[in-house]
Amino acid sequence: MRVAMIGTGYVGLVSGACFSDFGHEVICVDKDESKIEALKRGEIPIYEPGLDVLVNGNMRVGRLSFTSDLATAVPDADAVFIAVGTPSRRGDGHADLSYVFAAAQEIAPLLKDYTVVVTKSTVPVGTGDEVERLIRETAPDAAFDVASNPEFLREGSAIEDFKRPDRVVVGTTSERARDVMRELYRPLFLRETPMVMTNRQTSELIKYAGNAFLATKITFINEMADICEKVDANIQDVAKGIGLDGRIGKLFLHAGPGYGGSCFPKDTLALVKTAEDVGAPTKIVNSVVEVNADRKKRMATKIIEAAGGSVDGKKIAVLGVTFKPNTDDMRDSPSLDIIPILQEKGATIRAFDPAGMEEAGRLLPGVDWCENAYDTIAGADILVILTEWNEFRALQWDRVADAMPGRLVVDLRNIYFPHEVARQGFTYHSIGRSPAE
Ligand code: NAD
Repeated sequence: MRVAMIGTGYVGLVSGACFSDFGHEVICVDKDESKIEALKRGEIPIYEPGLDVLVNGNMRVGRLSFTSDLATAVPDADAVFIAVGTPSRRGDGHADLSYVFAAAQEIAPLLKDYTVVVTKSTVPVGTGDEVERLIRETAPDAAFDVASNPEFLREGSAIEDFKRPDRVVVGTTSERARDVMRELYRPLFLRETPMVMTNRQTSELIKYAGNAFLATKITFINEMADICEKVDANIQDVAKGIGLDGRIGKLFLHAGPGYGGSCFPKDTLALVKTAEDVGAPTKIVNSVVEVNADRKKRMATKIIEAAGGSVDGKKIAVLGVTFKPNTDDMRDSPSLDIIPILQEKGATIRAFDPAGMEEAGRLLPGVDWCENAYDTIAGADILVILTEWNEFRALQWDRVADAMPGRLVVDLRNIYFPHEVARQGFTYHSIGRSPAE
């Protein structure tokens, strides 16, 4: 199969590289010429483990190529994927579909033989109808179908997620389009990957319902953690105790500073807006959005309270600023709420992140960026762990004690046992666990 992938961000680049690795011929297109030039040189513009090997390997054998010119990619493609961004629209929280619609309009005049136009971007219910209408408007005689094929990969494990998905969802009622989609994902049939074939609206909603459910699960366990802190209970045991119930499941039950990232915040908000628009408002998702936004700010208060009520004049060492480990993605990271509040309250911040500092440098002014964990900790009054990168999970506490004059550690990811850190003479605060455990 020949594939055109429009948008070479986290989703487009990974999907394009994986489809080429499945044996298809893929051309990735992006408007951002600097990205395309870098990719042509074999440089990967994002941090995603394993992606450089996958991209370069498939480029070498000629199955994967890059261009900024749609006209070289679209006319011969069996499937044209739209994998452009759908950020929150400024001001109202609806998904901003301008990139999707622009891509649809650009594709339309280039369609030649029968083509399946696939929305891989996360788009609200009804977007596929509008994409179809826009293409039909420009190219009334074109032979095409519009299918929805939401992506469920996670940054940090994107390749594995794409190649070994729990399921593939395809939304179209056209048998011809279904055949093309089956052929594209055929390598997954060996693993008996379930394929959910449904109509476009259902497929579009599945993506939002999935993200909203996961965001709800995280928010639920975060609230349980708040209760644990008041009653000397242990949130990790609560999570284990409920997670072993097969009806609940043990994943997504890690209490922390609130969810962030490029998907959950914007997708929950967009679902709330869609639900309001269609007259079926969702109180649950609405509360999740509010509780989570509030929680990220409350984490700054937690640090200030741990410091005895004030961080004025304190030096705070922050380890990790990305919204999760193994990505350089800073979109809606809790650090973007927490660090500015601490600065406003008079703290100076030194920070280190293995992959996110370039982007974070633009978003978090006034932070002193460091070379590594120990360099960050040097001279600090307070150590705050914001992201659970592996390299922060095995700090040598005697080295930490030598490096920082302060004795306060606030771990918002629960990566240490409280008694371990306390034994080294630190006061240790974490999420939903008593400092004395
Ligand atoms: P991104 O911002 O990293 O990448 C989007 C790319 O599209 C950019 O490189 C941009 O230059 C390009 N682009 C925009 N308009 C274009 C056009 N008309 N022609 C060519 N290129 C164009 O976005 P992302 O994180 O890859 O997300 C893409 C979509 O996938 C979003 O809808 C997102 O919600 C969804 N999604 C993301 C993830 C994730 O983990 N990032 C997971 C699942 C789904």
